[in-house]
Amino acid sequence: TVHEVDLFTIGAGGAAYPAAFLLARAGLRVVMADTKGVMSGNCLAEGCVPSKSVREVAAHRARQRRFSPWGLPGELPVDYRKVVAHKDRVQKDRYDQHAREMAEVPSLRLVAGRARFLDDHTIAVEGNRGEERYRARHIIVASGSDIVRPSFPGADLFLDSRDFFALNPVLTERPSSLVIVGGGYIGLETATMFHALGTEVSLIEKGPRVLSGMDSAMVKELCGLLDPGIRILRGATVLKAEKTDSGVALHYRVGESSPEVVHAEKGMVAVGRRPVVPEGFEGIGGEVGPHGIVADLSCQTSIPHIYAAGDVNGISPLFHSAVRQSLVAAHNILAGGRAVDAFNPAAVPVTVFTLPEAAWVGLVPDEAHRRGIPFVTGRYDFAEDSRAQILGETGGGITLLFEPGSLRLLGGTIVGVDAASLVGEIGLAVAGRLTARDLAHFPDQHPMAAEGVGKAARTLV
Ligand code: ADP
Repeated sequence: TVHEVDLFTIGAGGAAYPAAFLLARAGLRVVMADTKGVMSGNCLAEGCVPSKSVREVAAHRARQRRFSPWGLPGELPVDYRKVVAHKDRVQKDRYDQHAREMAEVPSLRLVAGRARFLDDHTIAVEGNRGEERYRARHIIVASGSDIVRPSFPGADLFLDSRDFFALNPVLTERPSSLVIVGGGYIGLETATMFHALGTEVSLIEKGPRVLSGMDSAMVKELCGLLDPGIRILRGATVLKAEKTDSGVALHYRVGESSPEVVHAEKGMVAVGRRPVVPEGFEGIGGEVGPHGIVADLSCQTSIPHIYAAGDVNGISPLFHSAVRQSLVAAHNILAGGRAVDAFNPAAVPVTVFTLPEAAWVGLVPDEAHRRGIPFVTGRYDFAEDSRAQILGETGGGITLLFEPGSLRLLGGTIVGVDAASLVGEIGLAVAGRLTARDLAHFPDQHPMAAEGVGKAARTLV
């Protein structure tokens, strides 16, 4: 038998379920398929939520340590098993919450199994009870992304982010030392959190700088604030890894110099994620490019009734972008395939949850230079900020980019205190097309770092 449905989603993560709920509530027959058999994808399984559950403990410990020069209690002792238990509890609570949300919409079904295309309307799902077939009027491919494992000899001795952050993870004890291969956001976040938990950390990056692709001025400012105890090796090529009595040895070379070795109790690889294109998609004529399934900002693929949302289309591989794109696809499906809604990549907040954190939204200086877009900047240093002084975290600041003349806000970068929160406020102002005058006239709260948004704007008004 072939089940007839109105919407079929491949995957049940952030790119799938917002659309699934919306269309199911609108009375359509909706089925989501996910190999995990649960809703919420990799963000909850091994990404944002569990990594931040560990990171916040590390951040509290680092903050407590900063209070100690003033005679306040010094660093918290850390029992990493309890940190893992906290992380697992957060994940379980959220899985339970999602199960309750699903139960409220009986017309929405989630099937466990791997989905593949048979033709452009027919999907087979291979589950543990065999294969089921679905014929769908509309399809959202929301199959996300997966960890890239590097291929150097001995790489299999190294853990990856799943081993650190999945429910009941492989890593249950805090290693005394850790070597990380890859200086992207996952590698650098993990480096700073484990360093703050007391682990000796080395990070190997093959390129000339960490966080490649992100704004260079922001990255430079962030790197100046990272704890100098974190050993970062740039321009380093990994040669091989070996097992030792005490853990792993990683052999590498910087430029043409002679090979060197780092020893650590544990190793981690964090060299990126790649989109997961479901089997059969290319066979039915779906277009796939270097960043994943080709979709426009209405999330439509080269096959009009098939949409691609989230990490799989490579447009903006972030959970909140996936959620927005899912709703974009849903709105366009409800409009009969017309592009009535579109994803706006120009106002998406992004945070690197290092200690301290760095964040940006919209236009950043490197991109403005590359695209020849003129701008003027307003700047606020956290050195003069009351909240930063209260916390003893006075490094960094807020840089806002405005259109010359109109002083319309185009984007901004933040390094330091509360960056992850501030970038949301700045992003909303970009999306709402506010100007430096609007920001300057808003009486933002004292004594919070958000005051700095108005103060940065006031340097131009
Ligand atoms: P996004 O944030 O874009 O939704 P995620 O990676 O969080 O991406 O979620 C994608 C989900 O899709 C994951 O839970 C993954 O296991 C699942 N998935 C990937 N490929 C398939 C497939 N062919 N069939 C069913 N589920 C899939």
